[in-house]
Amino acid sequence: MSRHQGIGMTSQRTRERLAARLGDAGIRDVRVLDVMRRVPRHLFVDEALATRAYEDTALPIGYGQTISQPYTVARMTEVLMEVEPKKVLEVGSGCGYQSAVLAHLVAEVYSVERIQALVRRARESLSELRINNVRLRHGDGYAGWPVHAPYDAILVAAAPTEVPPALLEQLADGGRLVIPTGNGREQRLICITREGNICHERELEPVSFVPLTAGVER
Ligand code: SAH
Repeated sequence: MSRHQGIGMTSQRTRERLAARLGDAGIRDVRVLDVMRRVPRHLFVDEALATRAYEDTALPIGYGQTISQPYTVARMTEVLMEVEPKKVLEVGSGCGYQSAVLAHLVAEVYSVERIQALVRRARESLSELRINNVRLRHGDGYAGWPVHAPYDAILVAAAPTEVPPALLEQLADGGRLVIPTGNGREQRLICITREGNICHERELEPVSFVPLTAGVER
């Protein structure tokens, strides 16, 4: 028996409603909307919060961290999909929800998380969903994950004050980095596309992420 069975019957319908709301909010890529309709977000939060899993809002996942707002997950994914990536690096796996969304759209997902307990939890949830194209690593995402570089796209789910240079270095030619930057409660979401050694930067919308913190935690 799987966890959170109580809301099993209603979750498909509430997920449909969430996808419709994301469409109304401006998400255009039908592949992304389809995946938002399919990934059971309630499996990535504590049972006590499962009934709120399909609200378009961030929710606490413990350790002072959050599961990102569905709109933000969909938006960042949509922007990455514009370059048709095959291999993606995510920084800040958290509970693994964004990784699961990416896993349905690209061939290989690599994801780095600095809190060991969250890495364990993300692994469990992804294996429960039989997702096997995500590799998770406990480490400091400021350094990226050099051994698998270059990446066609990099998605950062926590906000640094400046773009970490290692991430730009690990971006393939033609690759794209989507990252929130800033040190207040609200940050700027920016999209950087690399062409040779030139990086083109475009500002998207204001967002609100937890800070990207250096070092790892057991
Ligand atoms: N991707 C998640 C969002 C998680 S919140 C989702 O699907 O909802 C951001 C995560 O970034 C937190 O779990 C936090 O621990 C992690 N984080 C913060 N700084 C980090 C760093 N330097 N390296 C790796 N992960 C980091």
